[in-house]
Amino acid sequence: MKSIAIIGGGFSGTLSAVNLIMKADIPLTIYLIEKDDPKTKGIAYSTDDETHLLNVPALKVSALADQHNHFIDWLDKAKESGLINDFAHTDFLPRKLYGQYLNELLEQSEKIAKIKNINLIKINHDQVIDLDIKEEKSIIYFEHHDSVTVDKTILALGNYPPANINIENPEFYSDNNYFQNPWNINALKQIETETNVLLIGSGLTMVDLALSLAKNNHQGKIFVVSPHGYLPEPHEKIVSYPAFFDKNNLPVTCLQALKIVRNEIIKAKNQGISYKSVIDSIRPFIQDIWLGFDIVEKKRFMRYLRHRWGVLRHRVPVQAYNKINKLIESGQLEIFAGKIKSFTNKDHLIDVQLKRRNDNQIISFPVSCIFNCTGPESNYLNINEPLIKNIIKKGLIKPDMMNLGIDATIKGEIINFENNISEQIFTLGSTLKGILWESTAIPEIRVQADKLADLILKQLKGKI
Ligand SMILES: Cc1cc2nc3c(=O)[nH]c(=O)nc-3n(C[C@H](O)[C@H](O)[C@H](O)COP(=O)(O)OP(=O)(O)OC[C@H]3O[C@@H](n4cnc5c(N)ncnc54)[C@H](O)[C@@H]3O)c2cc1C
Repeated sequence: MKSIAIIGGGFSGTLSAVNLIMKADIPLTIYLIEKDDPKTKGIAYSTDDETHLLNVPALKVSALADQHNHFIDWLDKAKESGLINDFAHTDFLPRKLYGQYLNELLEQSEKIAKIKNINLIKINHDQVIDLDIKEEKSIIYFEHHDSVTVDKTILALGNYPPANINIENPEFYSDNNYFQNPWNINALKQIETETNVLLIGSGLTMVDLALSLAKNNHQGKIFVVSPHGYLPEPHEKIVSYPAFFDKNNLPVTCLQALKIVRNEIIKAKNQGISYKSVIDSIRPFIQDIWLGFDIVEKKRFMRYLRHRWGVLRHRVPVQAYNKINKLIESGQLEIFAGKIKSFTNKDHLIDVQLKRRNDNQIISFPVSCIFNCTGPESNYLNINEPLIKNIIKKGLIKPDMMNLGIDATIKGEIINFENNISEQIFTLGSTLKGILWESTAIPEIRVQADKLADLILKQLKGKI
């Protein structure tokens, strides 16, 4: 019987299993491997805080690429059974609820698997620490379990905790009141409500943490520092804007792209249409534009446009936006644009030294704890996980040219150290960020999981 190992049980891993089960017409063994609690379905949906919302409306987050109403239909049934209250298709629902949806989807797929002679073996609370390729098969090594040998392996590894930012005294990072992993649910629960907190980064993870602090009735100050001090914009009801990029003549430089988008935003504004409509209409073209940029343009984008683009593209539900604004207006949350110089622990208080962006002034303030909200680490050379270290050392994977993920084809076939395209190891999700740029959210990953299942099954059938 042919066999597949899926390493990672978050959205990418779960959807890989679901698609393989749905599409397979050969007997299969699928190992779905998750090092943490399998019920949480990865970092994004492991939160138990109801204020942490999906940043995409309910009608756009079906987990299945070819069934756009799948989540809405599930919600209708959940409403009938009293699990949730009334909801609108345009609501931004709690991420925790989405985790429940994924759990049920997997449970249903398990039932289908039994009927189709597919053996789904779930290995939980154990991590894969190494991988070998021998005679066209992969051998998967675990920290605790015995190894397994499979025909195909999917790396559905997802998000790693953020990298420490550069400061003058990096030895500080061993301090107990510094939390490199902002998604550690228990860390926030330890914070005393009267104390000052620093959140490094002003994006979506900062919003999550600030909302949780507010929900816990936090009384101390919440300082936020990021290079530009940009805050996420709110989602709003917008009209759809017609596509304006020519698929056959896409811009090949940042400047060309910027000019086209700027002109379009001005045109839209003159018609009373929000720039957000314009930005949203670009989404179907983003992967192709990124693929058309050479390395110089990709680097230029990362240097000059990435932060601005992040703000335009990644918005927050209006409820979350309003809550953050309330915290700002009350003076509890203060945002600085600037560069952190150092953290010094003095008698249980951490002195934060910061160079402000607007006037280059050095300022300092005391906090009791610090959370790193700068976004997942994507440079695989810096990821301190046994599996990653081992397979990089063996040359089975290598970072992509941008150091934003793993080198692979756009279909997710791994390109190894010798630049050979693997027929054994595949990937999807954030590992493909350097290749596709847009590769971290549900709408992209559900399509990747669907296509990857087709590709792997085709290859397996070809060998029977
Ligand atoms: C806080 C947060 C909120 C988000 N909110 C949204 C949103 O609202 N909408 C949206 O579209 N996208 C959102 N995203 C983007 C998110 O990345 C995707 O939606 C999706 O959840 C990614 O799933 P994943 O499986 O690729 O990664 P992850 O969720 O990170 O899952 C990877 C899993 O692999 C496991 N794993 C890793 N290495 C090993 C190993 N060696 N052995 C065994 N197991 C291993 C990990 O434990 C983890 O459970 C959010 C991301 C984050 C971080």
